[in-house]
Amino acid sequence: MATGRTITIGAHVSAAGGVQNAPANAAAIGATAFALFTRNQRQWAAKPYTEETVSAFHEAMKNAGYSRDNVLPHAGYLINLGSPDEEVRHKSIGGLADELGRTVTLGLGLLNFHPGTSKGTLDEEDTCRRIARGIDEVLERVRDDRDDPALLVLENTAGQGNNMGATFDQLARIIAAGTHPERLAVCVDTCHAFAAGFDIRTAAGWDAMMDELDRAVGLERLAGVHLNDSLGELGGRKDRHRHIGEGEIGLEGFRRIMNDTRLDGLPLVLETPDEERWEAEIRLLLEMAG
Ligand SMILES: [Zn+2]
Ligand SMILES: [Zn+2]
Repeated sequence: MATGRTITIGAHVSAAGGVQNAPANAAAIGATAFALFTRNQRQWAAKPYTEETVSAFHEAMKNAGYSRDNVLPHAGYLINLGSPDEEVRHKSIGGLADELGRTVTLGLGLLNFHPGTSKGTLDEEDTCRRIARGIDEVLERVRDDRDDPALLVLENTAGQGNNMGATFDQLARIIAAGTHPERLAVCVDTCHAFAAGFDIRTAAGWDAMMDELDRAVGLERLAGVHLNDSLGELGGRKDRHRHIGEGEIGLEGFRRIMNDTRLDGLPLVLETPDEERWEAEIRLLLEMAG
């Protein structure tokens, strides 16, 4: 790796047994950044953290040498702020607000989530407006008095099932439709981008995607990257992750990505299927950088 670069990279590690276990799980695979679920991602409700859990988390963060900038929590998959079902939408707002509250309680600064879908019941513009209203409600429910309050991080999607976020214009539309744009950021998932039609296998394709991101939402909003190879083909709209170098994007694609200094300092997070391979994948990606 070239001197002078700060690359923070890791994986979405397990928080089994409690969030306080995640930092050590990340450190054990040589990660300098990580993602985690703030609670069970398959259920709507969860008990609040105990004081012991929160202090154990802070202790574990300190012991492993992580700061809030190294952590990109991922919200549960049930959340859909665009849902046409009022009950689901209501639960989604409550669920995301609960997770944002947990993010703040843990002293973290980012919460990554999928924008959502109206399942074809609304056009693109109205879907984005509906999602933006949900985001406003979440931000208004959760108190964060820090000088640098937590950001909600919209992830780009493969565009499957009418999910918003396959284009950066959709993310820009959501950001513009809300009343707290300063509290919103974006995260790029490489598998989703490829599946949505960005040919990031080539230098020209990667740069075109970054230019498009900059034009639509501004690079200053980029808060993290998910590093995943793609099982599905270019533009296939399939959200199927593969290990780095074993999918359609390929090793050369990731070599270019790892040499883009615009990603320096951002949490780069693997979400590839087999956790036994993350340590080796982190090493491989770092070797390709610089
Ligand atoms: Zn995600
Ligand atoms: Zn992702």
